[in-house]
Amino acid sequence: RLEIQNITRVFGGRTVVDDVSLKVMPGQVTCLLGPSGCGKSTTLRVIAGVDMQDSGNIFIDGNLVCDTVFRVPPERRSVGLMFQDFALFPHLSVAENVAFGLSGSRAEKRRRVEQLLERVDLLGHIDDYPHQLSGGEQQRVALVRALAPRPKIMLMDEPFSGLDNRLRDEIRDDTLSVLKEEGAAVLLVTHEPDEAMRMADEIALMRHGKIVQQGAPYNIYNAPVDRAAAAFFSDIN
Ligand code: ATP
Ligand code: MG
Repeated sequence: RLEIQNITRVFGGRTVVDDVSLKVMPGQVTCLLGPSGCGKSTTLRVIAGVDMQDSGNIFIDGNLVCDTVFRVPPERRSVGLMFQDFALFPHLSVAENVAFGLSGSRAEKRRRVEQLLERVDLLGHIDDYPHQLSGGEQQRVALVRALAPRPKIMLMDEPFSGLDNRLRDEIRDDTLSVLKEEGAAVLLVTHEPDEAMRMADEIALMRHGKIVQQGAPYNIYNAPVDRAAAAFFSDIN
């Protein structure tokens, strides 16, 4: 369970993330949705611990991982990351990529790697190298690599960009079912309303650093908080 309270981040006098609070429960997908530049990636970076907020608190499973004086380093937050530039390690095989963040015996690691690759239909590529895979296949490897250590929180920043439409739909569906099985609390960043409608249990609509509306996709779509929110959703097909 992820909870952030009143997170604010200021760059050079400009408030880029403005008093943002959110809760994400295990097995749930919350989409942080908003136009380019509204502060989505900055919010995610702060939660991951690669950037630090100017004020506010972050809790993972009820434990404080970061306030303005105390800070658990990124690798000890039980957070999985999947970002836009999800690059796999080019010199490692698919199996080695997925096993990268795992601890335990060789046999245990192998079992986990095979289990995950099977779920995304890539067991046949286990000994391939990234350059031998298509873009969509690489994306699926990146997904299971992030999930391999069983993170409690999964942070995804536009993970499906750069794929053609059909492949994107397919990978979204695959990803959603794997995420649900793994039971992580997922915070997914996107600027595409249709992606949020498709994937989210809850949408947090962000604008100029603030969350302006939050709720079930259906409710936000049907009762947008203002004209700008309505316009943002209007070009969904
Ligand atoms: P996009 O959809 O385009 O990825 P975003 O919502 O993820 O946008 P952010 O990357 O969070 O937006 O950036 C929000 C604002 O903060 C932008 O105006 C950006 O220029 C600014 N910003 C982000 N990081 C820094 C930084 N390290 N130093 C100064 N300004 C920054
Ligand atoms: Mg971004």
